[in-house]
Amino acid sequence: MGNFFRRLGDRFRNFMIGRYGTDSFGMFLVYALLVIIVISMFFRGGIVGTILNLLTWVIFIYTWFRILSRNYAKRSAENRWYLEKTAAIRKFFRIKKKQQSERKEYKYFKCPECGQQLRVPRGKGQIKITCRKCGRQFTGRT
Ligand SMILES: [Zn+2]
Repeated sequence: MGNFFRRLGDRFRNFMIGRYGTDSFGMFLVYALLVIIVISMFFRGGIVGTILNLLTWVIFIYTWFRILSRNYAKRSAENRWYLEKTAAIRKFFRIKKKQQSERKEYKYFKCPECGQQLRVPRGKGQIKITCRKCGRQFTGRT
């Protein structure tokens, strides 16, 4: 039985040789697919349900088309386009995640002048904060 699965694994690897596989855009498509499937559960029947169903199939087929594609140049160009278009959003979430993980040690302030995010160690009480971007000073409680 182990041999059977090993052979199956080998055949799958051989099949995938020279094919594009997954990338960031591919993962985004998979998540988008899951979200649309969940949403479509609330719209069974009607026109919205039909459209979402159709969209599910289109994304599903497109996702697999990309995974199995042999056109590396085209697929990585799509991925670059995706990364470029979502750079700001991804940066926003990256910063939020970092702030979340550091929230015990640091407090974040937004400069009232230029909007720069400033990180200050917690537990220092009322302090004067100087913006490192524009030099504006303001007070904050840490
Ligand atoms: Zn500032």
